[in-house]
Amino acid sequence: MKKPRCGVPDVDIAGFSTFGKMPKWQKASLTYRIENYTPDMSVSEVDDSIKKALEVWAKVTPLRFTRISSGTADIMISFGRGKHGDYYPFDGPGKTLAHAFAPAPGIGGDAHFDEDENFTFRSSRGYILFLVAAHEFGHSLGLSHSDDPGALMYPVYRYKNPDTFVLPPDDIKGIQSLYGLNPNKNSFVAETQGQMLFFKDSFLWHNSPQNRTLQKSLITDFWPKAPVGVDAAYENQQSDRIFFFKGMCKVWAFSDYDLVPGYPKRLSSFGLPRGVRNLDAALYDADSGKSLFFVGNNYFSYDDARETMDRGFPKRLDQTFSGLTNKVNAALQYRGFTYLFSGPHVFAYDLKTGRLNRVLRSSYFLNCTNFQDSLLSNVFV
Ligand SMILES: [Zn+2]
Ligand SMILES: [Zn+2]
Repeated sequence: MKKPRCGVPDVDIAGFSTFGKMPKWQKASLTYRIENYTPDMSVSEVDDSIKKALEVWAKVTPLRFTRISSGTADIMISFGRGKHGDYYPFDGPGKTLAHAFAPAPGIGGDAHFDEDENFTFRSSRGYILFLVAAHEFGHSLGLSHSDDPGALMYPVYRYKNPDTFVLPPDDIKGIQSLYGLNPNKNSFVAETQGQMLFFKDSFLWHNSPQNRTLQKSLITDFWPKAPVGVDAAYENQQSDRIFFFKGMCKVWAFSDYDLVPGYPKRLSSFGLPRGVRNLDAALYDADSGKSLFFVGNNYFSYDDARETMDRGFPKRLDQTFSGLTNKVNAALQYRGFTYLFSGPHVFAYDLKTGRLNRVLRSSYFLNCTNFQDSLLSNVFV
């Protein structure tokens, strides 16, 4: 019981948990204020650690955080030792590292860090402020402790590399049970072996010709080595490979469920210009053998066989896809047509003739009300 840990009491649960009455913020835009600093780190290191710790939660929810430097913020952040103004005095070096309060007015949402600990920016000697803060902000947003030892909300501190940290699935499930998904996060749609797959964040929904009900799974249940959260993906039916894209750095390729040797690779290995930081969507055009990458109002054509980007690209979307003026959220080829999801609509094109065939509501593919409730309103509308 001497392990370094969070001071918020545990509850008896399986997986993530919320506080008793499920307190949550009734607004998506929250403020935070850093009231004082620890001498253990530079001011900019503290600022950066706090900002990144909040981003961990913003990435997977509709929540947005704005820093203020005076007045009362929703989340007031301070360092203190021993008695520090609430009824929960800290205990000197070790054991309790910090605590935070569930969403509520006043002290609710606030996070306190024990100044008797040695906090660090990224050294494994001392406690990494980013990791401790990301955990505490889980409380500030309404999560209690998880009994999943892999979860961020597990009460005991464990070192993780802050540069490669990704929010574990248990925590994503927990926070999204309170606030829902990030509406700006890209999704993609693919069809493989008669199954349609819909991806978002860390999850995929799949149906099959036999079963029109969509089933929800973790992407990592299918592809254990896949990244957590993806920007785009597509399947090359010729090479029978499925590609996942995340950020500018990484492309993963899977053959069946196995990672292809040599992957993950950098996005630039596809010949995309350096300015491209991530993809909105991607698809494989079975007729031409080209992969199309959608980025903002442009798209690129990639020759899979020659492994080079085609000349004359990027092109503006509406040069090829008439009527399409906004970015593409997801892309799919299905029964000879190319479907591009943009805003609340799906544009169906015949790539051979270049004609816009019809415009559908995005719900066209998504018959399951369950799916529509949880995802569609957030993603496509
Ligand atoms: Zn805690
Ligand atoms: Zn306190």
